[in-house]
Amino acid sequence: MISKAKIEQWKQNYPLLNDVINAKEVFWLNPKYKREDENPIRISTKELKEAAERLQRFAPYLREVFPETEKYGGLIESELQNIDGFKLELNNIFHSTIRGDLYIKRDDSLPIAGSIKARGGIYEVLKYAESLALKNSIISKKDNYKVFTEEKFRSLFSQYSLAVGSTGNLGLSIGIIGSTLGFNTTVHMSSDAKVWKKELLRKRGVKVKEYNTDYSQAVKEGRRESRQDPKSYFIDDEKSRDLFLGYAVAALRLKKQFADKNIRIDEQSPLLVFLPCGVGGGPGGICFGLKKVFGKNVHCFFAEPTHSPSMLIGMMTGEHNKITVQQFGLSNKTAADGLAVGRPSKFVGKLMENLLAGIYTVQDDQLFYLLKRLYKKENIKLEPSALAGFPGPSKLLQKEVGNDFLGLCEDKDVLDNAKYLIWATGGSMVPEKEFLHNLQTKNEN
Ligand SMILES: *Cc1c(COP(=O)(O)O)cnc(C)c1O
Repeated sequence: MISKAKIEQWKQNYPLLNDVINAKEVFWLNPKYKREDENPIRISTKELKEAAERLQRFAPYLREVFPETEKYGGLIESELQNIDGFKLELNNIFHSTIRGDLYIKRDDSLPIAGSIKARGGIYEVLKYAESLALKNSIISKKDNYKVFTEEKFRSLFSQYSLAVGSTGNLGLSIGIIGSTLGFNTTVHMSSDAKVWKKELLRKRGVKVKEYNTDYSQAVKEGRRESRQDPKSYFIDDEKSRDLFLGYAVAALRLKKQFADKNIRIDEQSPLLVFLPCGVGGGPGGICFGLKKVFGKNVHCFFAEPTHSPSMLIGMMTGEHNKITVQQFGLSNKTAADGLAVGRPSKFVGKLMENLLAGIYTVQDDQLFYLLKRLYKKENIKLEPSALAGFPGPSKLLQKEVGNDFLGLCEDKDVLDNAKYLIWATGGSMVPEKEFLHNLQTKNEN
């Protein structure tokens, strides 16, 4: 429990918290942000490389069982797309003047699971499968991993269970890869999870347990149940290093994508990235990776729903996973199901302390409006959570925020020359009916 007095004190210390508690849209610049992080980061470049190599080893297998990964040679990767055409639209909607180039990262179309969760979730399951196979001496790291399709692998994995707690997309990702490899997989779904996601998983033989409670509770139940079975492995979104590393690999790939397009990221034209945030593992992993790759020439911002700003409150107060948004009178109810997380990750916020430039919040209304505009103008279909990055550039350019941000930069034209990258985090697996429903959802704009 957090006392009323404590909350009053925080409100005094962090005046922006008043607006946060009133579910108003805010933009928080992280006062502890250091453009050049001096802290030794607790995850090494070596670990990041190993994760990338592991995914490379599995490429022949993924190519075999998920032909849609063919385009990237068996890697789970998405396109980096220029959408300068949408700049005018954003400028109109938010009365802003974005001058730099605008890009989106199409994680909505990631193969296998259709959301950013395909990066971290699948990585952690593959790592676990590899460790079991190595321990049982049925593989060596030099082998062609296509053999993971063979019966002896499936029969080994069928002796083990995987479990995960999810608002939907992580469950989808773990469930699909887990059942494909042959694991007994159980997904503990929070009340936010969409019916179609549960149905899809059940069709694949995944056990789906439903809860009337929010995400944190579903994770807790899943963790508790899994602990009782020594052959059950729990993928713990609130504190998993492997999930985080799987996400972080995106940065190495992105560096190459920019280089292939001959786009320079440097001090005069830095990269500004806008990432929807739930528990924090996805955007945190990517921000962490990007900082390793681009250093002081990248600045990352997270986006959260106004009713679920758990990472924001956690980082602002320094209380991290000790707080829930409910303790501040917020509902944690949002149409952005992927972001409906009331308590942030146990370690991501701390790791982000000097790495993250800021966090802003977005109303659900706005997400639906953007969903519609993006579809009409660019023919891109996203799920509501995945739109949270879109208001970012305009919001950063608001005078008060932009000036404070520029205080960190030596070059005063930096916002005009920056490359703006919006991370689109999910959508390609949403059934047509569901998408049409989202398209018709009313908003006040
Ligand atoms: C899970 C999710 C996110 C955020 O990732 P976290 O690791 O929960 O912070 C963003 N967008 C979508 C569509 C998601 O499913």
